[in-house]
Amino acid sequence: KEFKDFDFKPFINKALKAMGFRKPTPVQERLIPTILKGKSVVGQSQTGSGKTHTFLLPIFQKVDPNCPAQAVITTPSRELAYQIYEAAKQIAKFAPEPIIVHNYVGGTDKQRQIEKLSHNQPQIVIGTPGRILDLIRAQALDVHEVRQFVVDEADMTLDMGFLDDTDAIASSLPQDLQMMVFSATIPEKLQPFLHKYMENPVVEVV
Ligand code: AMP
Repeated sequence: KEFKDFDFKPFINKALKAMGFRKPTPVQERLIPTILKGKSVVGQSQTGSGKTHTFLLPIFQKVDPNCPAQAVITTPSRELAYQIYEAAKQIAKFAPEPIIVHNYVGGTDKQRQIEKLSHNQPQIVIGTPGRILDLIRAQALDVHEVRQFVVDEADMTLDMGFLDDTDAIASSLPQDLQMMVFSATIPEKLQPFLHKYMENPVVEVV
């Protein structure tokens, strides 16, 4: 498969070219077509496999620049959130109309984030579960239009004690949600969460 087989919008193809991505990695090849169809997926893949772009590229394909938050991405650490944010900005900068991507992690000024959200809602939300949940509960982040929820590093999320917050985020999002869960391993303790939010996910081990 080639990137052109995915029929991405021109700005995404431009971003791919600028980033020097010549062909999809195995996880991208296997999961991007499924994600583009709107199906929920579980991707069992390691860091370094290209999983970040497996979810980011289809999110950008779908995002409407005129609508508030449509995609929420959680990851358990600030460093990982920052990496996803940087990768997203590399794509967003090619968009013909501005697509706002924000990163919300613990240890930053929450009041300031709430204040800024009262003027301006991002289209793509990235962050750690606790802070994103706080912003939803404060009714600062408008999640009515969210269609896609990515749980990155789900096993680490569980190990670090953030699965309850992640579950609370999922339950506050609209029902017809496309879930994308990425995890290096699928521990037994993750199963209740997976079953709660996904009926027949496409599972790929890459
Ligand atoms: P990840 O597994 O998402 O952390 O990605 C690992 C690294 O691979 C990152 O530096 C990406 O920018 C890079 N990458 C992702 N997809 C591709 C691709 N199709 N071709 C070349 N590099 C890629």
